[in-house]
Order: sequence, then structure tokens, then C-alpha cells
Amino acid sequence: MLLSKLFIPITKDLPTEAKIKSHQLMLRTGMIRQSSAGIYSWLPLGFKVMKKIENIVRNEQNNIGAQEMLMPTIQSADIWKESGRYDDYGEEMLRISDRQKREMLYGPTNEEQITEIFRSSVKSYKLLPQIFYHIQWKFRDELRPRFGVMRCREFYMKDAYSFDLNENEAVLSYNKMFFAYLKTFQKLGLKSIPMKADTGPIGGDLSHEFIILADTGESKIYTDKKIFDISIDKYQNTDASLKKMRTDFSQFYAVTDDKFKSEDFDKNVKKEDQIQTKGIEVGHIFYFGDKYSKPMKCSVDSKEGKKIFVKMGSYGIGVSRLVAAIIEAKYSKEKMKWPKLVSPFDVVIIPAINKNDNSNLDKAKKIYDELKTNGIDVLLDDVEENISNKFKKHDLLGIPFQIIIGSKTKNNMFEFKEIDKESQMLDLNEITKLLKN
Ligand code: ATP
Ligand code: MG
Repeated sequence: MLLSKLFIPITKDLPTEAKIKSHQLMLRTGMIRQSSAGIYSWLPLGFKVMKKIENIVRNEQNNIGAQEMLMPTIQSADIWKESGRYDDYGEEMLRISDRQKREMLYGPTNEEQITEIFRSSVKSYKLLPQIFYHIQWKFRDELRPRFGVMRCREFYMKDAYSFDLNENEAVLSYNKMFFAYLKTFQKLGLKSIPMKADTGPIGGDLSHEFIILADTGESKIYTDKKIFDISIDKYQNTDASLKKMRTDFSQFYAVTDDKFKSEDFDKNVKKEDQIQTKGIEVGHIFYFGDKYSKPMKCSVDSKEGKKIFVKMGSYGIGVSRLVAAIIEAKYSKEKMKWPKLVSPFDVVIIPAINKNDNSNLDKAKKIYDELKTNGIDVLLDDVEENISNKFKKHDLLGIPFQIIIGSKTKNNMFEFKEIDKESQMLDLNEITKLLKN
């Protein structure tokens, strides 16, 4: 892509309404644009990053055998009346009526919808267990939308739902999802900590929030610092290994403020290991048994011919929130830094361009063509602009690799730079090889 053709409305001014770095940067680099309170358009750069995150989330869901589907954003109020949540959910739910005066709503979550789908076609224990997921827009009429896409009203979420015959098996599904979440956040370059959490309006017995540390986070967390040392690479997707994983994590105290009690903290964690800080909730998982299946009469026949209400769990990841969360976690000293897998481009070529001399731009174009042929997603900064302004702009954009074509370029050797590292002189072959890895 040529920068001159790319729609990234970069602004120089600091947006006054934005209180946190990620919100400021997303507005400044034209990733998003607010359309009304808590509702945003995703412009090309922001959309590209979000789609990459979505794909990583999707892969890890597929890896544990979850099946992707797509449920609508608009739901009928009837199923919510059946579960009893139509009244309970309160003002966060956007209620709509259609031209026939039927009560509808913009889905804030999909437990009812998936339970309705499941009960209409699955009648036997033989089809269990099942895990379904979709990645779809949600609407919650938050009282105070703020921090850009971090807490907005319309947001993009991956939500998954598990169906099992009994609690023991449901815990196995829960463990799989727990594992998929840790893997997903690791791939995204984030260190996430699973924290015991309250189940809130979703209801139920067992719940973890996945939190990444950030000063601007809205969740207060209390944890034993030893939990950070657990490496997830030693676990595999087998029931026994995942059970071990859960036991390993549960050894350490790690809770958000809903569950925090200072006596427990002091009793369970040595003073020098206590961490009290803030974090961003990027995922939340629940096991809630028959909370929905019972009122909605979602049952299967057991082996013995008995009707059993299925045992369910639900599992959310804030895909759009993650775009901002990654910025918060990675930003340092006026520089953005996208993890390689989610960066809007793999590499940017920055030629110094003079009015009367096109030679740097010509070299840049050759490199650009070669990299593109090799399947590398490359951005060429072909804009005629002072080189120091260019560098400032690319610090802001945070593409992890730069090829600089200027005074240091000699023969066929080019300056290649990874953000925050010393640059090195490489030829095109070496650059291509490096980027392909
Ligand atoms: P929070 O505690 O932040 O209000 P929640 O507990 O209500 O979130 P869940 O129902 O657990 O949210 O939703 C799953 C995930 O969806 C959350 O972990 C979060 O990443 C994301 N999410 C929830 N609400 C919002 C929102 N208003 N804006 C953006 N992302 C959100
Ligand atoms: Mg939550």
C-alpha cells in the first residue's frame, strides 16, 4: 500500500476529549471516528488491526474444537422473557419495537439465543459436549461510555457457549476455554492473569476474568506475583494437562475488587509477593449450570432415558477492546509498538524524498515490489515530506520494522530497523528473509 493513497486521517492536535493514551492515539492515527456517544466507525487502519486480532481469537477457538457460527445482532424479547432476564437486565439493554409492535432488542450477549437454537434440535446426550462461538457486534447502553473503544456502547465481542451433560464434563469445557484464552492473549503479545471473579448478571458458580496489567485499567486487582511465573507452554489440550493447569493457577491468590478481602490477601500472600494494581479486563468466562437451560426447558435424554437440563458455560473476549488494550500495554515514550501479528503492516519503507531527486523513491519502489511479491504486507511512505516529520509519524503508527532509504544507503545495502533496536545495514535478500520469518 502507498501511504499517499491510504486513508489515515492523522491529526497533529491532541484530542481533548480523550483521557487515556490508547484513545488519543486511535483518534490521532485515524483508526476510529466517533459517530455518537460510545459508538464508533472503524477506519481502514483500525479495522485492519481489529480483523487481525479477530483472526487470532478465531484460530484459538478452533484449536479447542469450538465451532464458529453467526447469530444476529437483533433478538426477540420473547426468549429473554423465558429466561427471566428481560426485566433483570435493566437499562443497559437497548429495547426496540418493529413495525408490528413486536418487542425486540439489540443483543448485549447471546445465552438465550444459543439456548433456543440448541433446544430446538439437540435431543440426545450423544451430541454432547458442544462448544459454539460467534464474533458479533453487541450493544450495551453503558451509563458512562468512556476511554474510546475500551468502554463503548457498540462493541465487537467473541462469545462462546458450551453444552455438557453434567458438571464434571462442563468443567472440562471450561478448562479448554481457560486454556484457549491464555493462548490467545499470549499470541497477542499480552500477559494475561486469570482472576477469580463474581458472576454478575450472567449468573452462576464459577468465573474468571482475564486481566492484563495497565495503569489506566478500570479493574482493581490483588494478586500473588508468583502467578506471573506460570508458563502456559507446558500444558497441552488434554483433560489431565488442563486440570493440572487449573490447579497450578488456583494455588495463587488473584482476585478483582469484587472478591477482595484484605484478611484473605494477607493470610494467603507473603507481603513481599503482594501486588495491588490496575488492569484491563479483556476476557471473562463463566460456568452457570442450568441457569438458562432450566427456565428455557433445554434438556437432552440421558443414556438411561432421563431428561437432563444441559449444563452451560459462556465465554467472552472483547475483540474491539483488545485493540485499545494492546496499545495501552505496549505504548512507551511517544512510540507505539504493535506486536508483529497484529500490526497494520509488516514493514514500512521510508525514503528521504527531495523535490529534484527521485532516486531514493525509485529504490524504495523496487524494494516495495520485491517484498510484495514475497507476500509481505508493506507500506511505502511515498509522501513528499521532511524526513524528521516522517519519523515522528511512523513512531506514532508503530509498524514494527522500517527500511530507511537515505544517506546511509550504499550500493545495495539498506538501513533496516526494528523499533527500539539499533538499525543494521542489510541487502534486500537478507531483509526479505528476516521479514518472512
Ligand atoms: P466490564 O466488567 O468491563 O463492564 P462485563 O463484565 O460487563 O465487562 P462481559 O459480559 O464479561 O463484560 O463481556 C465479555 C468481554 O467483553 C469483557 O471481558 C470485555 O473485554 C468486553 N466488553 C464488555 N463490555 C464492554 C464495553 N462496554 N465496551 C467494550 N468492550 C466490552
Ligand atoms: Mg466481565
